[in-house]
Amino acid sequence: MRARFRKSMRRKLLSLERELLQSLEAQQDEYDELTYADRTEETEDAAVRNEERTLSALLHHEERRLTRVRSALGRLVAGHYGTCADCGNPIGEERLKAQPDTIFCYGCAKKRQGNIRSPHLS
Ligand SMILES: [Zn+2]
Repeated sequence: MRARFRKSMRRKLLSLERELLQSLEAQQDEYDELTYADRTEETEDAAVRNEERTLSALLHHEERRLTRVRSALGRLVAGHYGTCADCGNPIGEERLKAQPDTIFCYGCAKKRQGNIRSPHLS
């Protein structure tokens, strides 16, 4: 992998990490407010519960993404960034640009998507 490409991916991953942290923080605040309101009013407000569930799913989703972004940064440092975790072939630069935290090449990702029909957000 070219040094310039690695450098640009590093920058991309770092800004992704920053974005995710900010978004997580904002959502965590919102979530805390929701659960607090829930506790004090002791209502079974379906709308609040729904929002709580949606937020909680989103939080988990972004937390997982953050973990992936951080492990991608770790792989960059270790020198095996851009290698497919499944077949060991290099992942295409275009694919990495579109999805900097991916650990699978296009072919392996497609195979996996075929296996997992409906990924759950929990
Ligand atoms: Zn692969």
